[in-house]
Amino acid sequence: MSFSTLGLSNEIIRAVTELGYTKPTPIQMQAIPAVLSGSDLLAGAQTGTGKTASFTLPLLHRLSSDQSLRSTANGRSPIRALILTPTRELAAQVEESVRDYGKYLKLNSMVMFGGVSISQQKRRLNSHVDILVATPGRLLDHVQQGTVNLSQIEVLVLDEADRMLDMGFIRDIRRIIALLPKQRQNLLFFATFSEKIKELAAGLLNRPKMIEVARRNVTAETVIQKVYKVERDRKRQLLANLIRQGNWYQVLVFTRTKYGADRLVKQLGDERIQALAIHGNKSQSARTHALEKFKNGNLQVLVATDIAARGLDISELPHVVNFDLPFVPEDYVHRIGRTGRAGASGEAVSLVCVDEYHLLADIEKLIEQRLPFEVVAGFGTSPHTQPQAVPDGRNHKPSPNGGKRPTRSKPKSSPEKSVKQGTPRTVAGGKKSGGSSSASRRSAKRSRRSIGSK
Ligand code: AMP
Repeated sequence: MSFSTLGLSNEIIRAVTELGYTKPTPIQMQAIPAVLSGSDLLAGAQTGTGKTASFTLPLLHRLSSDQSLRSTANGRSPIRALILTPTRELAAQVEESVRDYGKYLKLNSMVMFGGVSISQQKRRLNSHVDILVATPGRLLDHVQQGTVNLSQIEVLVLDEADRMLDMGFIRDIRRIIALLPKQRQNLLFFATFSEKIKELAAGLLNRPKMIEVARRNVTAETVIQKVYKVERDRKRQLLANLIRQGNWYQVLVFTRTKYGADRLVKQLGDERIQALAIHGNKSQSARTHALEKFKNGNLQVLVATDIAARGLDISELPHVVNFDLPFVPEDYVHRIGRTGRAGASGEAVSLVCVDEYHLLADIEKLIEQRLPFEVVAGFGTSPHTQPQAVPDGRNHKPSPNGGKRPTRSKPKSSPEKSVKQGTPRTVAGGKKSGGSSSASRRSAKRSRRSIGSK
């Protein structure tokens, strides 16, 4: 199967060919014909599956094949497609893809999110915009100020709709939908199915085609998952140690809180490991700067909270670290989905202290996989350490069995094994990880792209 057999125009095929895409991914094979046929779509696909192109390519095809003159009441050409995303970073990334894929078409796109000057966006809206990629909050600011007109939207895309619902955007989404014409095509993409998605889809979609590419909540086979058991106060030293011993040159580290992210950046700095954080309290320019540096290979460690890192596409990211385990087990799947993309191998390491055993058990239940503990020499836990409630405001009870890990399923392999520090480990595909070849560094650099340059 090739892109041309899917019915896309030559201009679009030329653009994707130049990007090095030789054949469509499974979600693209299914979604492109469905969208081209004009039907609504309910699609389950995680970041890394090629989902952005799966809606952008047919969207571009549809808009470019009908460019008859249209105008709004004030004589301006109207916005014809609206793509809503949960985060600013994802909006910037999606709009960059729209520009890349639409390089040979006469269509204009714009990205819109909060945290940056609104007046510049107003000026941009005064010119010709066909495709608007936006986060809901800032779009509603423009609606309120009467600076955006959504009355001629032909296609609505909700990207990562499940995350938008988790972030409490449902009312915003409903307000936006109320401003759109009744007659339109709706495409709803989610990573994890839930009752809330079902409800949203039922109210929004008209006899949708349904597609789901990867089994839900499945972790990629190309990601080697490791769980290191560690004292709660020694996580930082263990992380610094893993980074140094393994010569990790590009590591995405997840913390649960913004405060935790900032503190870790400072602590790694004290260890002379260069790190920056992205989270909701950082200015947009600081976030863009950190991300750009990281993607370009000029920043060793990026520390992120779940929301800030959602949907980020970083090619060939070799290491993801869960400094804290997430409270929501699905977030574990999303976090480690940042590595091992498109068949490349990667390593996801979780640093787990006694307070988090119940979170690990929830994750194992979700992914239907046992993740055996490993202990790095010198960093194991004392058998006397008692669990504390994790301070998430929800009052998790410490496990009643006095710091022992709860068992959910029979371990497939020995539950604990000790590893020597810095030992290279075999990863999927027979490659060795834990060493830094300059060739692999160069290749990672070559394949990285930057975002948000507009
Ligand atoms: P996404 O799931 O949209 O975040 O895409 C993940 C990555 O896959 C992006 O870096 C895309 O550039 C890349 N990609 C998308 N479609 C293809 C394809 N057909 N062949 C190769 N790479 C692709």
